[in-house]
Amino acid sequence: MGGFIIVGAGEAGTRAAFALRETGYDRPVTLIGAETHLPYERPPLSKPDIGAIAMKPICSDEALLNARITYLPGAEVAKLDVAGKSLELSDGRSLEYGKLLLATGARPRKLSCPGAGRALDFRTFDDAKVILDRLNASRSVAIIGGGLIGMELAAMLRGKGLIVSVIEAAPKPLSRAVPLRFAAKLHKRHIDEGVNFHLGVGVSEILDNTVLLTNGTEVPADVVVTAIGVQPEIALAEKAGLATGNGILTNLFLQTSDRHIFAAGDCAAVEQPGGGYVRFESWRNARSQAQIAARNMAGANEAFSATPWFWTDQYDLGLQVAGLPQPHHQSVVRALSTGELEFYLDQGTLVAAAGLGIKNSVAKDIKLSEMLIASGISPNPAALADPSVNLKILLKSAKAA
Ligand code: NAP
Repeated sequence: MGGFIIVGAGEAGTRAAFALRETGYDRPVTLIGAETHLPYERPPLSKPDIGAIAMKPICSDEALLNARITYLPGAEVAKLDVAGKSLELSDGRSLEYGKLLLATGARPRKLSCPGAGRALDFRTFDDAKVILDRLNASRSVAIIGGGLIGMELAAMLRGKGLIVSVIEAAPKPLSRAVPLRFAAKLHKRHIDEGVNFHLGVGVSEILDNTVLLTNGTEVPADVVVTAIGVQPEIALAEKAGLATGNGILTNLFLQTSDRHIFAAGDCAAVEQPGGGYVRFESWRNARSQAQIAARNMAGANEAFSATPWFWTDQYDLGLQVAGLPQPHHQSVVRALSTGELEFYLDQGTLVAAAGLGIKNSVAKDIKLSEMLIASGISPNPAALADPSVNLKILLKSAKAA
């Protein structure tokens, strides 16, 4: 019987490889990555702090060696044989596994309009480098998609003095993941910084140096970047006959329809206690699922139940969101000296919180809010709104209760 193999050397796959060793698992661990670099962090690629694209490795060669993780970079898995518990790589190698983790991530959605091939994706370090290199000799950029990547990139590129246009199909940017209140504030900041928005409109064609919109507008663009969301990478699982939907379907323990195979990160659609499956695309989710998947592969039986959390940095503003705010939730706003918090109550119970402030000034409050959410309290809305009421006190009384 082979050891454990992990397909995908992004955040989830790499963290899982190390987490396996933390469980005391002693047999071979192999980490297979399609990219040729050492595993690296994706969030810094689109954050504004650094003028150049930052390559921040998750681990060094030495760390992989010390943990006895066999890392196979630049390797593509061509076939998964579930019955034979083996993988075939596109270079012809065959690998047997005892247990397998699929951490295959997601790939950018593609535009289908004429000239779509002229637009560049933004997902990997190599993508980011190509875009930045092209922009060094350019004046204008059109970003198609006003989601998290689009807006982070817009902030970064305005900082470099480029003419930046954001084209978004929805009437407002950031409407998918960011609470309305803060999406509006970030949108305003981008306008103040000089970003040109084209909202509620589609792209009919991408020409040399111009993006033609469905309303007839011509947007000047030396470089065109698409950031219109991602699709889970499920092809390998699908071909192998595993259950898939909007992701590789797993039970609460991150186990797929084959008991020897687990899935984690952007590719995993995880069963929910109340029914249905949820796939959550974020750095923290990849990390926390990696821990649980690794422990369960090593024999534990832990259900995955972390509160979703993500952050975004745009200009000098930092936003953090814990939980999943919904339009029907009761909103309670607390003013801060450098920003604002918004709490979300569902029938009186605190279920989510978000904060926007200068740099990471809201981090501490969101951390406390996460603990409050986990404690399942139904706080007094007036206390939540009052900046003089320390969240620590609320937490203490929640714990005492
Ligand atoms: P995203 O956040 O899903 O945003 C994509 C945006 O593009 C959506 O607003 C979408 O509108 C819009 N769109 C879709 N088709 C379009 C079209 N044909 N023309 C114009 N706009 C269109 O995806 P993303 O920004 O590409 O990011 C990719 C993934 O990376 C996401 O999972 C994101 O969460 C993750 N990410 C996270 C962070 C972070 O946590 N800070 C940062 C960067 C990226 P509709 O919603 O109406 O389809």
